[in-house]
Amino acid sequence: MATEHAGGAWVVAVDGPSGSGKSTVSRRLAQALGAYYLDTGSMYRAVTWAVLQAGVDPHDADTVTKIAVETELSVGTDPADPHIAVDGVNVDGPIRGPEVTAAVSAVSAVPGVRQVLVARQREIIAGTRDGAGIVVEGRDIGMVVAPDAHLKVYLTASADERARRRAVERAADLHSTAADLDRRDRLDSTRATDPLAQAPDAVVLDSTELGIDQVVRHLVGLLQERHRA
Ligand code: C5P
Repeated sequence: MATEHAGGAWVVAVDGPSGSGKSTVSRRLAQALGAYYLDTGSMYRAVTWAVLQAGVDPHDADTVTKIAVETELSVGTDPADPHIAVDGVNVDGPIRGPEVTAAVSAVSAVPGVRQVLVARQREIIAGTRDGAGIVVEGRDIGMVVAPDAHLKVYLTASADERARRRAVERAADLHSTAADLDRRDRLDSTRATDPLAQAPDAVVLDSTELGIDQVVRHLVGLLQERHRA
């Protein structure tokens, strides 16, 4: 598992739509491997929070880009305790709220925002130089952020199952959760810059019928196979 990546760390890229289990799987996988963990979605959410705090229209690309450039993000990479702060203020709670969730796809479609955050994500990956490796989750990791990742995973699940999981997790209404996921998936998959996409060399895993532990075990096995190869 010690394949070199730019900056020295090996990378596991985990992409997929909302509610596919990416976060739980990525954190558990990172813990199982003794690796770092990077939740890139939390970075788009944090910039969105800053945009809303500033009272800016999420569709105002120039002002939104300016906020992304000026915002100081501090992103934790410990899978046991990931956290994110904006200009020194912890935003772990508010970035999961309905306001940020409703606006994040508009903010993340702004090319200037993606440019800033992709560069920051690559810096964080390159900063993990102690050989521990890093599991990075998002929508464009295998295609854009880390195209030379050691392992690329595209994690998915049926739309019904993804909505069910998300509604349980957030103690929210199933119908509105399903509508929100559908809207976000459509926006994230059809935007012009770095849309959600399956890398041609990604391992596709449908977790509809699988538990988290089974998915993590399968991925650990895959990494061991690749390490031996
Ligand atoms: O993963 P999560 O649902 O927290 O991501 C929130 C939003 O951030 C996504 O709906 C998407 O719009 C955006 N995102 C992105 N690229 C990534 C990660 C997240 O555009 N690599």
